[in-house]
Amino acid sequence: MPDPTLDRYAVIGNPIEQSKSPFIHTAFAQAIGQSIDYTKLLAPLGGFAAVVDAFRANGGRGMNVTAPFKLDAFAYATDLAPSAQMAGAVNAMKFEGDKVYAENFDGVGLVRDLVHNLKCPLQGRRVLILGAGGATRGALLPLLAEQPSELVIVNRTVVKAQELAALAQQHSAVQVPVLGLGYDAVQGAFDVVLNASSSSLRAELPPLSADVFAPGCLAYDLTYGKGLTPFLQLAQQADVTRLADGVGMLAEQAAEAFAWWRGVRPDTTAVIAQLTVPLA
Ligand code: NDP
Repeated sequence: MPDPTLDRYAVIGNPIEQSKSPFIHTAFAQAIGQSIDYTKLLAPLGGFAAVVDAFRANGGRGMNVTAPFKLDAFAYATDLAPSAQMAGAVNAMKFEGDKVYAENFDGVGLVRDLVHNLKCPLQGRRVLILGAGGATRGALLPLLAEQPSELVIVNRTVVKAQELAALAQQHSAVQVPVLGLGYDAVQGAFDVVLNASSSSLRAELPPLSADVFAPGCLAYDLTYGKGLTPFLQLAQQADVTRLADGVGMLAEQAAEAFAWWRGVRPDTTAVIAQLTVPLA
């Protein structure tokens, strides 16, 4: 039974058993001397709104949203932040009366991990991002705000990469060239290569040439907890020594949500250390 004196939060998804969010948010709260009640909610497909309605009726204060409900949350929200509008998806909600405020912290979480944790500034660097799904879409504006020299989006379904490139050019406040290409059209080497495709979830290798990795490049797989994925193996075989997965992004987007709800931004170092799976 939840403690009625504690503020209630949850992560909603299907499946949800694998979620690290309760561990992360409980650790954040403990580290700053707060107590919260944070649970996992399994919603049936097509049943998102009913489960969220019930959680709010029982005093729920906020939610993280994971697959496959990020679009349902977008539709459910009453007030969409620019990050959620640009991503076309929501990964965090805050409930205040009739209001459902919605954000998408995945993109800022990724950039914070790259720039702050991994000490990989993006300004003036050539950046390649694989995939043109929700993760890439949400990352576009935060990546462009760092002013790379160029951002190339590459995807199997080329038209989706082209659409995201056009969207990014349309909404970005900074003038950075953005290209949307198929894998066979990628040219030259990149300082940062981000795998934001879902290939690593099925241990698949995107049809990527090893020539994309510049000397000293960072190869970053947004998928986390899978060790040395086929993408990271390709980079390693191309003599890339700076390899990372998305565990830091996961912790940083959580820290953004926690700060939004609780007014204090927690340090992520301990959580990242505890969740890290060796890249071997
Ligand atoms: P989507 O389902 O929205 O998009 C998947 C993308 O991957 C599509 O562009 C698809 O291409 C591409 N793709 C799938 N399989 C392959 C393959 N074998 N080779 C090349 N491209 C492939 O997924 P999301 O954008 O939501 O998520 C992408 C990844 O990012 C996931 O692995 C997810 O776990 C991770 N992620 C990590 C987060 C973190 O906190 N670390 C947060 C959010 C996501 P096509 O369009 O041609 O089908």
